[in-house]
Amino acid sequence: MFAHWATAQAQAVAAHLLGVPTAFPRPEHNSAVIFTSPEIGMVGLTEEAARTAGIDAAVAEYDYRGDARTQISGDAFGRLRIVHRVDDRRVIGVHALVEGAGDLMGEAALVVRHGLTLDQVATAIHPHPTLTEAFGLAALHAGSGNGVPATTELRREAMVQA
Ligand SMILES: Cc1cc2nc3c(=O)[nH]c(=O)nc-3n(C[C@H](O)[C@H](O)[C@H](O)COP(=O)(O)OP(=O)(O)OC[C@H]3O[C@@H](n4cnc5c(N)ncnc54)[C@H](O)[C@@H]3O)c2cc1C
Repeated sequence: MFAHWATAQAQAVAAHLLGVPTAFPRPEHNSAVIFTSPEIGMVGLTEEAARTAGIDAAVAEYDYRGDARTQISGDAFGRLRIVHRVDDRRVIGVHALVEGAGDLMGEAALVVRHGLTLDQVATAIHPHPTLTEAFGLAALHAGSGNGVPATTELRREAMVQA
């Protein structure tokens, strides 16, 4: 149980009591942060949980070692994983281990809650240099076989392909 989960449930119950049609919050849309160093953030399903649920899932990954923001901060370490359905590329989970992961979970919650596709995430313009760039780059290169990309190389590749 988390404060934000309790709040979401309370809002749904209050709306229901007032007669406002409201969907009850779904656990697979919930988010959590573990405030360790580095932080751990999670929203939705892991790859393993998705497969256990019978979903054909794959993971788009980003390696924060090559990231501009983590290098500027002197914390060039971490990983972002975007779990998505193979058939329609909808995102069903996001997991991050990086200093500042907690602040990434807002975008992650939005993407998972609304079932955005990798392509929708990839075409959102993420500011540079921020930790959120990982969303766009991981989504852009999902399934490219370049499982653990480095930001600078990906930028060059994307520019060449465009
Ligand atoms: C030390 C600590 C740190 C935490 N840190 C975090 C965090 O960083 N992030 C996070 O997301 N969550 C955190 N949590 C968890 C979060 O506080 C809870 O998940 C959240 O408060 C649960 O909300 P709730 O409304 O369900 O219950 P509560 O907040 O416990 O509210 C229940 C209320 O009901 C009242 N009550 C109980 N019995 C009766 C009764 N018989 N009659 C009338 N009133 C009654 C209680 O007095 C209380 O006010 C933390 C919890 C603790 C203890």
